[in-house]
Amino acid sequence: PRLFVTGPLAEGASLPLDGQQAHYLAKVMRVEPGDAVIACDDVTGEWACEVVSAGKRDVVLAVRTRLREREAVPDFVLCAALLKKPNFDLVLEKATELGVAAVQPIVTRRCVADKLNPERALTIVTEAAEQCARTALPRVDAPAKLEALLRDWPQDRPLFFADEQGGEPAAAAFAAHQGPAALLVGPEGGFDEEERALVRAHPQARAITLGPRILRAETACISAIGLWMAVSGD
Ligand code: SAM
Repeated sequence: PRLFVTGPLAEGASLPLDGQQAHYLAKVMRVEPGDAVIACDDVTGEWACEVVSAGKRDVVLAVRTRLREREAVPDFVLCAALLKKPNFDLVLEKATELGVAAVQPIVTRRCVADKLNPERALTIVTEAAEQCARTALPRVDAPAKLEALLRDWPQDRPLFFADEQGGEPAAAAFAAHQGPAALLVGPEGGFDEEERALVRAHPQARAITLGPRILRAETACISAIGLWMAVSGD
């Protein structure tokens, strides 16, 4: 079993767990004293732990040795328009697996949702990070309106704008760039023409295409991040 816990962890420390995590270890994984568990704290990295006691409501681990330092995460941010809940959940999960540093949810005119439950988002990215053995959690920011995002956008970070109406082929655009970057993907109904013009006029925006087909928003997010990670080698 692998868990993200509240840290910081340190060699020899005792790590008491309760609630869902104790339930998962004791009831789902049926751990017993002496069993091995891996714990991560998003600060110091990944640690080998040993179960000291496993009750119904409380499990105590002893932190033994550090297995890995917290990984260096490529500075790639996904700016994704909010989608219907299950689809945005999928985006959060896959963006975590693929390795983004952060997810910035965006509110646009055609969004069907304008809110995100931060606890639920944290649970999704944490479970995805545990599953794929990430040692760092992606940050999930509070939703921002598209106009505000563009107004405050930093000068040193290109914003690759996934546009189904065309642009530079994504692989070539990604390969030609090094350093911090971000990807902007629209909602189920796409950006309206005014929004598209606003994004295209932004000095940091670079329109990219993911091919001739109109992808679902979640497919566009997942395929573009996968391409970025493959091209950048991260
Ligand atoms: N109606 C479909 C849906 O329900 O998901 C398609 C939505 S598509 C308009 C949503 C977003 O995906 C667009 O705003 C754009 O950012 C991105 N996208 C889709 N296909 C794309 C492509 N071929 N190239 C670049 N971006 C694309």
